[in-house]
Amino acid sequence: MMAGTASHGRPQVVIVGCGFGGLEAVRVLAGSGAVDITLIDRTNHHLFQPLLYQVATAGLAAPAISAPIRHILRRQIASGRLIVLRAEVVDLERDAVILDDGTRIGFDHLLLATGATHSYFGHDDWAAVAPGLKTLADAFTIRERLIGAFEQAERCTSDSERDAWLSFAIVGAGPTGVELAGTLVEIARRTLPQEFRRFDSRHARVVLLEGSPRVLAAFDPAGSASAERQLRSIGVDVRCGCQVVAIDGEGLNYKKADVDGVHRLSARTVVWAAGVQASPLGRMVSERFGATLDRAGRVVVAPDLSVPGAPQVQVIGDLASATTPGPTAPRPVPGVSPAAKQMGRLAGRNLLRRLQGRPTEAFVYRDYGSLATLGRHAAVVQLELARGARWQLSGWFAWVFWLFAHVYFLIGYRNRLVVLIDWAWNYWTFARHARVVAQSAAPTRPHRTSAAPPPPAVSGPRA
Ligand SMILES: Cc1cc2nc3c(=O)[nH]c(=O)nc-3n(C[C@H](O)[C@H](O)[C@H](O)COP(=O)(O)OP(=O)(O)OC[C@H]3O[C@@H](n4cnc5c(N)ncnc54)[C@H](O)[C@@H]3O)c2cc1C
Repeated sequence: MMAGTASHGRPQVVIVGCGFGGLEAVRVLAGSGAVDITLIDRTNHHLFQPLLYQVATAGLAAPAISAPIRHILRRQIASGRLIVLRAEVVDLERDAVILDDGTRIGFDHLLLATGATHSYFGHDDWAAVAPGLKTLADAFTIRERLIGAFEQAERCTSDSERDAWLSFAIVGAGPTGVELAGTLVEIARRTLPQEFRRFDSRHARVVLLEGSPRVLAAFDPAGSASAERQLRSIGVDVRCGCQVVAIDGEGLNYKKADVDGVHRLSARTVVWAAGVQASPLGRMVSERFGATLDRAGRVVVAPDLSVPGAPQVQVIGDLASATTPGPTAPRPVPGVSPAAKQMGRLAGRNLLRRLQGRPTEAFVYRDYGSLATLGRHAAVVQLELARGARWQLSGWFAWVFWLFAHVYFLIGYRNRLVVLIDWAWNYWTFARHARVVAQSAAPTRPHRTSAAPPPPAVSGPRA
């Protein structure tokens, strides 16, 4: 028997990905008792990505924002209706998924929730010198580089080299970029000043580059303007309208929208928070089931989240290009965790409806608003109220709102308690105890790759 074929006469459902969307779908389907489920994820944990930057900046340890999938779903596993496999899906057939070891898992219904990954806009070579933030492994890499940069600065004998190590560039001013930039300034100004002898960490420079004209483009212009003001007031060097055109181990080059020429920014540490593209499973869905992909490689789904022409396959979360009814025309659903969770729940319910021979429901996204923190006492919150009204908060109240909203949505009571205690400790002491990094086999300049070309000649002013 092929792995995954019906053993009790119940339909076999394969769910790939246990992020926000996949987890909700499992809960709905396992609770029904109507299907046998195989849940496949390449990691053994569910990750709360909105707080990943806190792990990257050493404010929280990894277990505070993640939890083992088997533990979260232990009751469903014990009920006998769910099997969890830690494996990577590397290929799709019309009635089976193929795992990294070649195992074939058959399905009657398939639910894909494998999310998104970084996009370097065709410059994948930048990944080596400008890591992005998506997984715990990414967070550890960035943490090591940030902490390593200050360590390198203490070893430098020349001022210019020390300045380069104390210059940090964040590319992309979406929520992740602004959160990283704000926290990095706080580390340099509040956490580290007493800990180094050869330099004053308060002089570290954090530059936030954004290609579009404003930070946090998903917010109203007033929210963006407030965020930019708050970032500048805490010491972030915000540069909007700047398109990065090259990154190497010594810094980056960018073009400004309104000025000719290429500008150079020397910064030994560059973090990429700019582009997103769908997981490669989108392309496989297109090849096997003829689905259309959007520009980011996401699968264009029918209103009920199934793949047009293949109702047995549903795609949700960041991998799906879905729409929701708008006042005049359908609006795209944003790639955020509440959308993924809502899609997961509807996909589960629609699958059960199909089994019962009932019509499926169309997805309607309930938007509660957007939040972003910019550092201590600095945040912007945009709440969506009834009948299209919006309520905007910024500063201290927004920061407190952001804080409790994130604790509330964390998985598990233990994680909520740990995060609250760690944050309270960090708040009063400015300490960031997750700064311990394992000894690395990497050379003393960990993110300077020998393959990186020397900085190209530039024609504009140097920053
Ligand atoms: C740094 C960061 C900060 C964010 N901040 C916010 C925020 O503040 N607010 C907000 O609402 N949203 C935020 N988001 C977006 C939010 O996290 C995503 O919209 C949400 O996670 C999408 O859920 P998903 O279920 O589609 O995918 P994910 O949650 O990404 O889950 C995908 C799962 O699929 C697994 N997987 C992937 N490929 C395979 C494969 N081939 N085989 C097996 N398993 C696979 C992965 O291991 C993962 O567990 C943030 C995202 C990031 C990266």
